[in-house]
Amino acid sequence: MRILVTGGAGFIGSHLIDRLMKQGHDVICLDNFFTGHKRNICHWMDNPYFELIRHDITEPIRLEIDQIYHLACPASPVHYQYNPVKTIKTNVMGTLNMLGLAKRVKARFLLASTSEVYGDPNVHPQPEEYRGNVNCIGIRSCYDEGKRVAETLAFDYHRQNNVDIRVMRIFNTYGPRMFENDGRVVSNFIVQALKGVPLTVYGDGSQTRSFCYVADLVEGMMRLMNNEHIGPINIGNPGEYTILQLAETIQKMIDPNAELVFKPLPQDDPKQRQPDITKAKNLLGWEPKIGLEDGLKITIEDFRSRLENGNT
Ligand code: NAD
Ligand code: UDP
Repeated sequence: MRILVTGGAGFIGSHLIDRLMKQGHDVICLDNFFTGHKRNICHWMDNPYFELIRHDITEPIRLEIDQIYHLACPASPVHYQYNPVKTIKTNVMGTLNMLGLAKRVKARFLLASTSEVYGDPNVHPQPEEYRGNVNCIGIRSCYDEGKRVAETLAFDYHRQNNVDIRVMRIFNTYGPRMFENDGRVVSNFIVQALKGVPLTVYGDGSQTRSFCYVADLVEGMMRLMNNEHIGPINIGNPGEYTILQLAETIQKMIDPNAELVFKPLPQDDPKQRQPDITKAKNLLGWEPKIGLEDGLKITIEDFRSRLENGNT
C-alpha cells in the first residue's frame, strides 16, 4: 500500500514509519519540521520506497495514497503553546486538508487524537463515552479544543462524505527519539538526571499520568487502522503513577542522589489521567506489553547515547 504519515519526522510518526517500511509499504512522510527532525527518518532516505515531503498541512496537497496516518501537530505543551494560533490552524485547517485529500482519493484516514479531549477529567479512568471537562479559553485549549474539532471534522466527513475514518485517543507516550528540549515530563526528568541538574516537579507532584511505551502505542495504532472499528478508541497504558513517583523512579534508575525541585503547577494541568482500554482489548485484541521500568531503561539508554554524541 502507499501510506502517508503526516508528522512522520516526529517522535511517534518516525517509529510508525519504521514499522510500515519493514512491512514493505510505500511510505510518504510529510512534515514541516516544527518539532520533527530529519535525523529520525534519515535511515530510510536511500530507500526507493520512502519519500520525504517538506510541507505544512495548513496548505492543501494532492497525493495518490491508500491510507493516511494523520499525526502532524506539536504534542508537548511547551511546543503547542509556543504559537497557539498556529496549533489551532494545524488541527483545524490541517485536518480539514487531510480529510479532503482522503475524500478525493478514497483513502482510509486515521486521526491521532488525544486523551486531552477529556481535559481535567472528573471521571476516572476515562472511557471513550466520557465527554470531558475542557476549559475552552485556557492555555491548553488551542490543543484540546483543536483536537476536539479535528474529531468532529473526521466524524462529519464520515457521515457526510463516507470517508473511511479511524479515531484514536492517545495517552501519554514516551520512548527513544523524544527530544531533549521536548518539555514533556519523561524527557525532562531523564535529561535532568543525566545532566546532574535537579528534576523539576510541577506542583506537589500528586497529579497522575499513565505512560505508554512507544512500540506498544504504534502496535495499537496499526491495529486500529487495519480493523473495522472506527473509534474513538483509547490507546494507552493503564499503569497510573503520580509525577512524584515518576521522578523517584527515574532518580533511582539514573542517580539516587539527584535532587528534586518543586515548581509552580501550570494552569489547567489535569489532576489525574488513566485510560480505560476495555474497547482496545475487546475490539482490537490490543493491550500494552512493556512496563514503565523496562520502557524507561530503553529510553534512558537512548538519551544517554545521544547526549554523549551531542545528538539531541
Ligand atoms: P512530535 O511533536 O514529536 O511530532 C509531531 C510532528 O508533526 C513533528 O514532526 C512536527 O514537525 C510535525 N508538524 C507539526 N505541525 C505541522 C504542520 N503544520 N505541518 C506539517 N507537519 C507538522 O509529537 P508526537 O509525540 O510524535 O505526537 C504525534 C501525534 O500524536 C500528535 O498529533 C499528537 O497530538 C498525538 N499525541 C501524542 C501524545 C504523546 O504522548 N506523544 C499523546 C497524545 C496525542
Ligand atoms: N511535569 C513536571 N515536570 C516537568 C514537566 C512536566 O512535573 O518538567 C508535569 C506536568 O505538570 C504534568 C505532567 O508532568 O502534570 C505531564 O506533563 P507533560 O507535559 O509530559 O504532559 P501532559 O500534561 O500534556 O499530560
